[in-house]
Amino acid sequence: MSQPQISYEFFPPQTEAGRTRLIETAEALAVTDPAYFSVTYGAGGSTRTRTYETVVKLMENGMTTAPHLSWGDDSESTLVSLIEKYRELGVTHMVALRGDPPSGIGATARIRRAHSLVNLIRRHFGNTFNLYVAAYPETHPDAISPEDDIRFLRKKIESGADGCITQYFFNADSYFYFIDRCRSHRIETPIVPGIMPITNYEGLVKFSDGCGADIPRWIRTRLAHLADNPEDLLAFGIEVVTNLCERLLNGGAPGIHFYTLNKPHASVQIARNLGLG
Ligand code: FAD
Repeated sequence: MSQPQISYEFFPPQTEAGRTRLIETAEALAVTDPAYFSVTYGAGGSTRTRTYETVVKLMENGMTTAPHLSWGDDSESTLVSLIEKYRELGVTHMVALRGDPPSGIGATARIRRAHSLVNLIRRHFGNTFNLYVAAYPETHPDAISPEDDIRFLRKKIESGADGCITQYFFNADSYFYFIDRCRSHRIETPIVPGIMPITNYEGLVKFSDGCGADIPRWIRTRLAHLADNPEDLLAFGIEVVTNLCERLLNGGAPGIHFYTLNKPHASVQIARNLGLG
């Protein structure tokens, strides 16, 4: 079996000092030999400049970096100019998304689906970029049905995506079942599990409720009891997530994409426990 591919996701810091700290984080993560780092993009273009500056900084420091991108309300020419700047920087990987509209403008914002962004990138830039799209083992909250969710995923692949990164989940069976369903819908690209290290209780519960990721009751209950004991909570989280990743990799997952929340410790520890890097 080939060595699984690891990647790490960051959000763009607010300040130059924050970007400098992020380089230290990336250097700490680089010991595990990741394939790339990715940088999120605030929907509606709200982090357009910050995401770009973060990508520049990481690339200048020799880190292969994949910007996330979504249409928001931008024109095609605005997007093409931004992507052209990424191409000139030497970017070779990109994550194409619909994005979530910032709160408050949801009802009025024009929805531009991820498949149309994949189309646009392929039309203007051919095969310059390795393109990833998002996939949802536990089904996207907006999906009409789990079947439709997979149909729309297939549309993103048919538009030219090379692979998928999943929303995070804590139940390995949801991933394996999803893979079987994708394959039966002739989606043959790699589907890399997105993994959220567990490092706190309240933030995780809030975020998971928002994006439709299920925290199994046994984990939620244990975390609630450890909420005031950060060291034990971190140790429990690392153990649970290491076991999850072990099952995924043993079951054939092509790699792991870590949602780092810009903190290196838990991701590095989990990668080391897995013997990666
Ligand atoms: P799409 O695939 O366009 O659509 C989402 C869902 O809508 C589909 O799963 C499907 O069920 C349904 N759908 C699609 N097309 C149709 C149609 N024609 N008719 C009816 N229903 C349809 N968000 C950010 O804001 N910034 C980021 O940087 C970011 N990075 C992410 C990275 C990963 C790996 C993942 C998994 C998610 C990320 N997100 C990010 C969150 C993502 O933007 C949201 O989940 C968003 O709600 C959906 O984006 P998408 O690209 O999956 O959308």
